Amino acid sequence: MKQIYFFAEGNRDMRALLGGKGANLAEMTGLGLPVPSGFTVTTDACHQYQTNNNNMTSQLEEELKDALQHLEEQTGKLFDNTANPLLVSVRSGAAISMPGMMDTILNLGLNDQTVLGLAKQTNNERFAWDCYRRLLQMFGNVVFGIPEKTFDNEMTKLKQAKHYQSDLELTTADLKQLAQQFKALYTATEHKAFPQNPHEQLQLAVDAVFSSWQNNRAKVYRKLHGIPETLGTAVNVQMMAFGNSGQDSGTGVAFTRNPVTGEAKLFGEFLKNAQGEDVVSGLRTPQPIHELADSDPEIYQQFVDSVQELENHYCDMQDVEFTIEHGKLYFLQTRNGKRTPKAAVQIAVDLVEEGKISEAEALMRVDPEQITQLLHPEFAVDDLKGKAELAKGLPASPGAASGQIYFTAASAKAAHEAGHQVVLVRQDTSPEDIEGMVVSEAIVTSRGGMTSHAAVVARGMGKCGVVGCAAITIESDKSVKIGEQTFHEGDNLSVDGTTGKLYAGILSTTKAAQDPNLQKFLQWAQKNGNVDVFANADTPADFEQALRFGAKGIGLTRTEHMFFKSERLFQMRRLIIARTADDRIDPLNKLREMQQRDFVALYRLAEGKNVTIRLLDPPLHEFLPHDEVELKEVATAMNVSVDKLRNRVAELKEVNPMLGHRGCRLAVTYPDIYEMQVTAIANAALQVRSEGINVKPHIMIPLIGSLVEMRWVKDRLVAKLNEVFATTKQPLHYQIGTMIEMPRACLVADQIAQEADFFSFGTNDLTQLTYGFSRDDSGSFLPDYIEKGLLPADPFKSLDQEGVGALMKMAVNGGRKEKRSLPIGVCGELGGDPESIKFFDAIGIDYVSCSPYRVPVAVLASAQAAINRRHQPSFAKATPTTH
Ligand code: PEP
Ligand code: MG
Repeated sequence: MKQIYFFAEGNRDMRALLGGKGANLAEMTGLGLPVPSGFTVTTDACHQYQTNNNNMTSQLEEELKDALQHLEEQTGKLFDNTANPLLVSVRSGAAISMPGMMDTILNLGLNDQTVLGLAKQTNNERFAWDCYRRLLQMFGNVVFGIPEKTFDNEMTKLKQAKHYQSDLELTTADLKQLAQQFKALYTATEHKAFPQNPHEQLQLAVDAVFSSWQNNRAKVYRKLHGIPETLGTAVNVQMMAFGNSGQDSGTGVAFTRNPVTGEAKLFGEFLKNAQGEDVVSGLRTPQPIHELADSDPEIYQQFVDSVQELENHYCDMQDVEFTIEHGKLYFLQTRNGKRTPKAAVQIAVDLVEEGKISEAEALMRVDPEQITQLLHPEFAVDDLKGKAELAKGLPASPGAASGQIYFTAASAKAAHEAGHQVVLVRQDTSPEDIEGMVVSEAIVTSRGGMTSHAAVVARGMGKCGVVGCAAITIESDKSVKIGEQTFHEGDNLSVDGTTGKLYAGILSTTKAAQDPNLQKFLQWAQKNGNVDVFANADTPADFEQALRFGAKGIGLTRTEHMFFKSERLFQMRRLIIARTADDRIDPLNKLREMQQRDFVALYRLAEGKNVTIRLLDPPLHEFLPHDEVELKEVATAMNVSVDKLRNRVAELKEVNPMLGHRGCRLAVTYPDIYEMQVTAIANAALQVRSEGINVKPHIMIPLIGSLVEMRWVKDRLVAKLNEVFATTKQPLHYQIGTMIEMPRACLVADQIAQEADFFSFGTNDLTQLTYGFSRDDSGSFLPDYIEKGLLPADPFKSLDQEGVGALMKMAVNGGRKEKRSLPIGVCGELGGDPESIKFFDAIGIDYVSCSPYRVPVAVLASAQAAINRRHQPSFAKATPTTH
């Protein structure tokens, strides 16, 4: 199979083979846009390289030679030629974009001879030597692994000695000297000379890009974003276009819409007389793109027209890299731009309103996980009052966060591991800092623009970020000056990524108000989804929040949570230590009154929507004191002897409480507790109905494992409900269903369905019992399983489709065999997980129930699952808003 494709041979659908960058370079070439000639070495070649013990195959070596010859013909330039030297860039490009995570080499083809040729040809000696020193730096770093800092130090020393402020002041003689010094570094550190033969340079560079797939930062990045290890990377080899060849040249990055806010306006930056890395690395602060219109109106117009063409062609916001060489514009890259969650929703809504995409396509454009980030925290207004602003930088990524400052990725990581909230403060960031960025609450840099590495990565991660904050001077790895104040490692700093402002100390945060675009977007999602979304809510406040987010009602109220408030806990404890039936009556009555008030509040808010109330689930010992001090306090408060209370605690103690006396098993021993609860439910329902609100109680029994157990518990509930309703003329309809959370219940679901009006999977317990992983203890070993590849993900966070999923399928089939339209939901944590929701949609689950802040995520995930099913395979996966 052919391992190299010229740009003219490919197109955007060949992503898997050519990588995203290669496929889009091919597409742009096909559209007739100005793209420097070049070719792509395929991901297939990368796989062959890996299976060939990380060596290039001889087939690839041959193809590379041929491709170079062809490139020479196309460009009219020659490799290793002093009269008209061909110089190329070598860049990695995987099928899923991983910006900055892998390697790039520019100006390849230069050596001690061709640099002279380039100088002569361009009549610009300084430019030629600047290119050469850059190649020596990048090549040394990427191919030989010499740290970038080693080269930077040499350059800084020279600049300091000559009292230069910027790189632009370096003279030709300085650059020549630097090239010599850099070459000396190769021999000093690696005992190898810089290869003068351009063919050898190219082979080594392709080799290095292939092996960069395995470097640590690429691995961390893939893990963070769930990118499969097996994809491999392609390599793009392309004729150089020089943005650093004079004042009529430059380079830049632009987005066809604002990637922070989503505003439909060209957004970008450029630097005159510079190469791409100068913009991306944040080493120099660039100018806004519209200023190009002043200095070069024709190029600017050509640029604006071309990027609009690209956006219309891709029907999505594009992120383009461009270079201008002596007044000629070249496009080096286009891709669907990364964006903040806010911008993702805004752009999706705008594209629908501009008639460019359908609602269904728009819904596929936003990553459900990132919806939660739309509910960005903000600093509490009261905390901000009178608080002096320390400094202001560029608002690179919205949100607000406080933490202790650290100045290196390693120290940030260590502080995070020690349990601190961390803010990473740096001059600028590079891909090496990725691990420090992952653990930080906020990222702050003193240099760089809105497209600097720090800005792009912070946005992608949904972390708040402020960049280019000129008032910051990093003094050492331990201290920083912000304005006039000095801060040391570990001092507290608050960062507002929405305004770009920094404050000393810790500020409290509040959740931000809802975005009207999100409302519109979620309404479209509601229309498209098949799996309804309910909320897990135990309090009116939670329920109100969930309703604002579009929950259809409550899918799980854990009634035990209502017993933990102090007055209720007291009554619960009285109930638990009571010895006789008589002693139980008073606390039961008190608890019933309190529960009734709770249920009335929920039913009123529900205004007729379903509210599913689950009867008591946890083992009783959870309500009793856990240590001697508490034991004494409680005994005094309850007016019982400490010994009596201690004995009761000892009686209730279990070796494996999660497998013990809990759920419906409590009802078998103490039927009066569930009877009290259903009485409270029925009374509350009657009361709310008398207020004119339609109410239909859904009562849910936990932990059922067999038909007889279900029948036994249900019979008692029905008898009690009949007792309450006997006094009303108009009977109240209700449903009694069960959680399905025991593997046995899945196996005999057809039987249980005889007595159940609905099923709701408790995937937390079902996962615990299917895998035999304790919900409470598995945190100590699950990370090892994931790290060592024995589990793809934590099964409590994303459904184990093969195992737990198979049991669920069996239970759905069993239940529906007995009752064709049995309503079936999921109310464990997985009810809010997009991947799991896809599976639930596929097996015919009617609804999920999740915590209020997950509701919008689940609504979108449900819509995407349905759209995917309807339209497969014509829809591309959501443009990830991370990278
Ligand atoms: C479950 O087991 O998934 C469930 C919802 O119940 P709980 O988490 O309260 O045990
Ligand atoms: Mg459970």
